[in-house]
Amino acid sequence: ASSPAASLRACASAPESEPATAPAIAVRQVLKTFAGKHEVKALEAVDLTVAPHEFVSILGPSGCGKSTLLRIVAGLTPYQGGEVQVNQRPVKGPSPEIGVVFQSSNMLPWLTVADNMALGAKLRGLDMQVLHPKLEQLTETLGLKGFEKHHPHQLSGGMRQRAAIGQILALDPQILLMDEPFGALDALTRDRLNVELLRIWQTLRQTVLLVTHSIAEAVFLSDRVIVMSGRPGRVVQEIQIDLPRPRQPEEIKSDPRYGEYIAELSALM
Ligand code: ADP
Ligand code: MG
Repeated sequence: ASSPAASLRACASAPESEPATAPAIAVRQVLKTFAGKHEVKALEAVDLTVAPHEFVSILGPSGCGKSTLLRIVAGLTPYQGGEVQVNQRPVKGPSPEIGVVFQSSNMLPWLTVADNMALGAKLRGLDMQVLHPKLEQLTETLGLKGFEKHHPHQLSGGMRQRAAIGQILALDPQILLMDEPFGALDALTRDRLNVELLRIWQTLRQTVLLVTHSIAEAVFLSDRVIVMSGRPGRVVQEIQIDLPRPRQPEEIKSDPRYGEYIAELSALM
């Protein structure tokens, strides 16, 4: 809740070129310290915004606080300073508008793929009449048709991760946070899933914040790439990816700018 004076000041100082849409995610001056015998300063003065429907990736060396930042935005971790807003409301805990996908899927081994995918939505009390066709569609889109009755251990790693993404998409999150969702998969599977993820995003257009280790993945998928670095971690660079949408893998990879972005980001890492 900002005072009228504060909002007046904000209006007065906003440059005229400022986009009219408020950010879907706004992280301002966030500070995070893990207490304990050895205190760890994980994040310091982290600033970032993500516009509605924007696809933003975060790159950065291991330990610079990428996962911590994502968990803070997801409302899963408290922080000590600054503020985090999602849809202009302070984040106070997990919220149904945010879906989170981690590197290792947490599907229940005793449930089938279909039941796993429906689980979160059922727990939220979503109407089966609405849920059923949506799950059918997701199963199709994610290439899991015919595997509905399988159990997680009967699937390949790539399929398990697709099902885990389906589990989250079944909840219709407006905002999708992903922490190295394909990090545990081989390069080929990863490439394929990136193409699928891009296709899904081009249809559903969620606001996405993705943490990845792969520069190529970040460039291929994103509108903008944010580079974090240091301990405590902070944002050190931001690059707008001006490649055409919708993107086709072959076209993108033969666009000279694709290679330039990768070279530019590689030099920063
Ligand atoms: P990244 O995802 O970029 O590899 P993390 O966010 O996992 O980085 O970690 C950032 C820093 O915070 C690291 O120094 C890590 O050791 C520390 N850290 C992360 N989680 C915890 C925790 N639960 N308790 C203590 N320190 C942690
Ligand atoms: Mg991490």
